[in-house]
Amino acid sequence: MASETIRLTGLTRSYGVGAAETTALVDATVTARAGEFVVLRGPSGSGKTTLLRLAAGLDEPDAGESWIGGRRVTAAPESEVAELRRTVLGYVDQEFPLVAFLTASENIELPLRARGASARERRFRVAEILEAVGLSDHAAQRPDELSGGQQQRVAVARALVHRPRVVLADEPTAQLDSTTAASVVGLIRERARRDGMTALVASHDPIVAEAADRVVEIHDGRLIGGV
Ligand code: ADP
Repeated sequence: MASETIRLTGLTRSYGVGAAETTALVDATVTARAGEFVVLRGPSGSGKTTLLRLAAGLDEPDAGESWIGGRRVTAAPESEVAELRRTVLGYVDQEFPLVAFLTASENIELPLRARGASARERRFRVAEILEAVGLSDHAAQRPDELSGGQQQRVAVARALVHRPRVVLADEPTAQLDSTTAASVVGLIRERARRDGMTALVASHDPIVAEAADRVVEIHDGRLIGGV
């Protein structure tokens, strides 16, 4: 369907070989429409990160396909996947790797620079998203001067600053207190409702599940009642 901005079909991935082989994900099918906020919920080790990485083209499945914004991600040339990440897709990594020598606002600005946005647009959008994640007073600080929760909010801001049509987020509230978590979730909720952004968020935080349109459960690499 054209309005399905996330279409993951039959994604399957194992790691290692022989006796050391771990099946991380089996035949995972998930779809989400424009404006939908879907939570992927499951215990640690259930396959959430694996699914998101395959969806984003950060890793390749053994079987199945990921389509984001109507474009095939799986087995696409690296240049196409990179272009997708600059334009259509925002990804919040669980480890939120920020660039150590750049300030919070410079980190957040990166996707806009990659897209060739003007200095004026960059200033405006960075200021807007810094305020939305409650970090306006920390714009000039480098990651090592920020708390874990502040760094996580920088990572969320960086994934959303270019207004992607699709965001994939891996435990984006893991380091946040409940008030800050609620504001980050509120931002994702608002972008979905107002801009039609589609969000697939891996989380076991009840604050995230409560805000979602739909919760998809995952256990031992298998989705329970997915699609
Ligand atoms: P979750 O995000 O739900 O914690 P993961 O997708 O990280 O789950 O992991 C699913 C399973 O795959 C786990 O058993 C994990 O140990 C295994 N796994 C994940 N990544 C790797 C890897 N790079 N090498 C080997 N095993 C891995």
